[in-house]
Amino acid sequence: MKISFPHMGTSHIAFKHLIEHLGHEVVPPPAPTSRTLDLGVKYAPEFACVPLKMLLGTYLEVLEKGADTIITSGGVGPCRAGLYPHLHQKILKDLGYDCKIIIFDPPLHNLKDFFSKINYIIKKGGKSWRQFWKEFKTSWLKLCVLDDVEILSHQVRPYELKKGSTTKVFKECLHIVDQAQTREEILDAKRICEKKLKEVPQDPSRNPLKIGIIGEIYVVLEPFMNMDVEITLEEMGVITHRSIYLTQWSRQNIIVNTEGSIYKTAYPYLKKKIGGHGINSIGETILYARNGFDGVIQVAPFTCIPEIVAKSILPEVSKDLNIPVLSLTIDEQTAKAGVQTRLEAFVDLLEQKRLHGGLNYARVSGH
Ligand code: SF4
Repeated sequence: MKISFPHMGTSHIAFKHLIEHLGHEVVPPPAPTSRTLDLGVKYAPEFACVPLKMLLGTYLEVLEKGADTIITSGGVGPCRAGLYPHLHQKILKDLGYDCKIIIFDPPLHNLKDFFSKINYIIKKGGKSWRQFWKEFKTSWLKLCVLDDVEILSHQVRPYELKKGSTTKVFKECLHIVDQAQTREEILDAKRICEKKLKEVPQDPSRNPLKIGIIGEIYVVLEPFMNMDVEITLEEMGVITHRSIYLTQWSRQNIIVNTEGSIYKTAYPYLKKKIGGHGINSIGETILYARNGFDGVIQVAPFTCIPEIVAKSILPEVSKDLNIPVLSLTIDEQTAKAGVQTRLEAFVDLLEQKRLHGGLNYARVSGH
């Protein structure tokens, strides 16, 4: 099979490894661009949230490059994520594409369905379950290393002496991890990347602000979607902490749901699951406040119901815990320059707050 999948942050590197080692050809998903979004907007329903549009654009791009199968995640619960892969399938069929979409819902939702789909991919590639487990473990290690290297880049960038130097090294690191094939090579790649990132010339005397990033998983993880919010802030000299990494999210949500503590944390403000990452956005804001962060930025797709609900509760959390929250709503009209201006204003506000020991800015929000 010629397989492709969504582009979400750096995860495509690990997925490519797994699919290739299962005996299939991979059509790597290109990093999203405005062309990708334009394609999605052209054929998606207007009411759909922006991740559906961007993923549709990605699928059209990989189908143009010859993919015949797309592997994607589904969803269960009160949001549209579970509907989207089926909608994608229908739109692509109407456009004349005869491709197969394999949808993976969380395994605990339907174990039999989950494993029968894996079995299909294994058998089509001529591999055994034993080989699958071996390659799965290696790919998981690669995914963990990608997250670890990225986390380190976020710690280094606010201190870099030359703007852009960390990003340059980080891109080299992605290539190094991509090239590594065995477990030993992947662990070596991790050591090399950590060394390279730590060697980026830095000014340790800085005292950066700390901002937590919360919101819907796709816009949080895909830099093109969130207008490079982390890099932009870090190049302003701010430390960012992202609430979601795929390895951490997967461990909590896909294999075993251990999110009890986040739900418990959010409970005084939100007592029910509302789908997507809505409840997480509340719980994580509380945790950021408790952990001494200076502010929180919520990135939310336009019309995303879970994040709209969270946004309506965040002012109360912000006021109670004295932590400013900026909500950025992302749609196809959002421009990077506009986001940059709002980030600069927010950072300015946080600096004033720190300088004067707390201003009466309980919340900053907007669209
Ligand atoms: S979480 Fe929000 S953006 Fe994601 S599918 Fe659900 S409604 Fe859409």
